[in-house]
Amino acid sequence: MSEPGTLFHREHSGMGALFDRTLGAYLGLAIGDALGATVEFMRPREIAAQYGVHREIQGGGWLKLARGQVTDDTTMSLALGDALLRGGEGALRRHADGDDALVRDMGDAFVRWWRGKPVDCGNTCRRGILRYMTEGTLAAPPNEGDAGNGAVMRNLPVVLATLHDDEAFERLSLAQARLTHHHPLSDAATLGLGQLTRRLLQGASHAEGIHWAQAWVQQHKAFAHTPYRGRATAYVVDTVQTVLHYFAMHDNFEAALVATVNQGDDADTTGALVGMLAGARCGAQALPHRWLSRLQPATVRAITEQASALLALGQAPAHV
Ligand code: MN
Ligand code: MN
Repeated sequence: MSEPGTLFHREHSGMGALFDRTLGAYLGLAIGDALGATVEFMRPREIAAQYGVHREIQGGGWLKLARGQVTDDTTMSLALGDALLRGGEGALRRHADGDDALVRDMGDAFVRWWRGKPVDCGNTCRRGILRYMTEGTLAAPPNEGDAGNGAVMRNLPVVLATLHDDEAFERLSLAQARLTHHHPLSDAATLGLGQLTRRLLQGASHAEGIHWAQAWVQQHKAFAHTPYRGRATAYVVDTVQTVLHYFAMHDNFEAALVATVNQGDDADTTGALVGMLAGARCGAQALPHRWLSRLQPATVRAITEQASALLALGQAPAHV
């Protein structure tokens, strides 16, 4: 377990294309988070002045991260994955029958995450977690201010655990989202990027992914991104426009991610989401080794374990 690349290549062999894409999505999320965090909240011009083109995982940034350290985008996803695995198939089935124990497990996982002093936490996430702690609220009341990207960024574990069940995917995506964010744009973005991820995991090509996203944008015009406005803030509209723009522009994982994070602003989250989409398409074996080997080994281990277990949960027979 000394060197993540070695561990990964050994464990991967023979496990098939779906697992490769699953691991690509989850490790791609972490790579984008770690790469982007260095330039989070910077303007493109500031990034260019300081780094030329920012293309190496090196830590630092406003959070003063260690090299390869990830932030809330990855660690909240892992917390959500823990909750799904803790309850297992039974909890998924009971949620379909109206039992909200699984959503309480998600809330408890976010509370444990929060008490573990995460390196960062968005305002809306913090407010939702504190409300859950003090009032036990499973769904935030609808709020004009909840249109941040915090629910979108952490939804991959739900995608994996419900890969073959459309109804469960929608129901659980919205349940986890509304623990902290309750806004139609957050809901739409969580479902939209989740659906796109599902299609890529199931083998859609880059062109097919772009085509799907174009049709989705026709139904959700707030997220239209042509011409691209160049805004990459944590407002979920800016985030999704940036993510879809750069995902569509490059069919190469590294090129897509470098272009995304050099747009700055919420670069760890736009990076995480482009990394998730591009990684789901290309698979873990195509991830740049120099980036993969810079992630912290504990992160790679946790992601590899979850990717496998969540996929198994999603492969279970229909939740009837
Ligand atoms: Mn973050
Ligand atoms: Mn962020």
